[in-house]
Amino acid sequence: MYGQKSVLVTGGAGFLGSHLCEKILEKGCNVLCVDNFFTGSRNNVEHLIKHERFELMRHDICFPLYVEVDEIYNLACPASPVHYQHDPVQTTKTSVLGAINMLGLAKRLGAKILQASTSEIYGDPKVHPQPETYWGHVNPIGIRSCYDEGKRCAETLFIDYQRQNDVNIRIMRIFNTYGPRMHPEDGRVVSNFIMQALRDLDITVYGDGGQTRSFCYRDDLVDGMMLLMSADDSINMPINIGNPIEFTILQLAELVIELTGSKSKLVFQPLPQDDPMQRKPDASLAKHHLNWSPKVELREGLEKTIPYFETIVAESSQNV
Ligand code: NAD
Ligand code: UDP
Repeated sequence: MYGQKSVLVTGGAGFLGSHLCEKILEKGCNVLCVDNFFTGSRNNVEHLIKHERFELMRHDICFPLYVEVDEIYNLACPASPVHYQHDPVQTTKTSVLGAINMLGLAKRLGAKILQASTSEIYGDPKVHPQPETYWGHVNPIGIRSCYDEGKRCAETLFIDYQRQNDVNIRIMRIFNTYGPRMHPEDGRVVSNFIMQALRDLDITVYGDGGQTRSFCYRDDLVDGMMLLMSADDSINMPINIGNPIEFTILQLAELVIELTGSKSKLVFQPLPQDDPMQRKPDASLAKHHLNWSPKVELREGLEKTIPYFETIVAESSQNV
């Protein structure tokens, strides 16, 4: 299946991208990791730098890229609300111009290309759970729009490059994913709650904590991503990849407190604008086409993730 292929991973120095680079190297391929280090870092791939089949390139995908590869995983884009709202114009540029540049590259090379899309394209969904056929409920002018609409436009570009230019595409709609190597200050709920719990600080629950998410462990996610890339070429429609077990944010907070043995208390803060009230994938297409379903339950995934954050907390207290 893989052999000596050359694979480009944009956003390869990020949370998911760095794991993907490792897994592709394990398959015997060459990996070209491209990143502008906006939210990712060299540290995430430091252990790969000396690998003879790994190459790291600093580059912003808003600009054209001239390289020779067989496959492209397009992950470059800040993913947490705090990060993507920091420079919303750049977020839209990365999603849209980045997609155009990477699709142009795929077209020239005849390379297969996978887009890391998102459950955010469903917005604050009125259909639950969300199947791929649902068109979503998205505010085009809210604070999340730079990401939601940018990713929606990227999906449009992918489908049109396929229809118009016969580019071999994959679209993966990723639902909330967590695990070691998440940025400790990305403001996402799993990283925030674990960092707060390990420091016995207040756990910041936004709204009443009744909103739901379905959390996928990063190994399951990366497995699904590689299966989608190697799937039959007819699988060129969007596919949800996420864990269909749904939790309220309050349940997550309680589980994190239990697993860390923390003395933290819950505090309630205002719900951010357009925060989706419910989210859960209908993952039946992934099961049917890829024979993929998640293996790691939330409790087990958190148990694997907490030691990573413990190391960060220990290192930061030594540096004080
Ligand atoms: P991340 O922020 O850790 O990784 C994104 C990477 O892209 C970073 O290394 C960043 O420096 C890089 N990047 C950003 N803009 C760039 C640009 N213009 N040019 C080159 N590199 C750029 O986030 P992640 O969680 O690893 O997410 C990876 C992808 O998966 C993103 O496209 C995200 O939208 C998608 N996704 C993630 C989740 C999740 O829960 N983690 C959910 C849905 C979708
Ligand atoms: N959230 C929270 N406390 C935090 C961070 C997030 O209650 O400290 C909530 C947030 O309002 C949302 C959910 O957790 O309802 C998931 O937020 P996250 O930023 O991780 O991802 P999203 O799915 O919203 O993009």
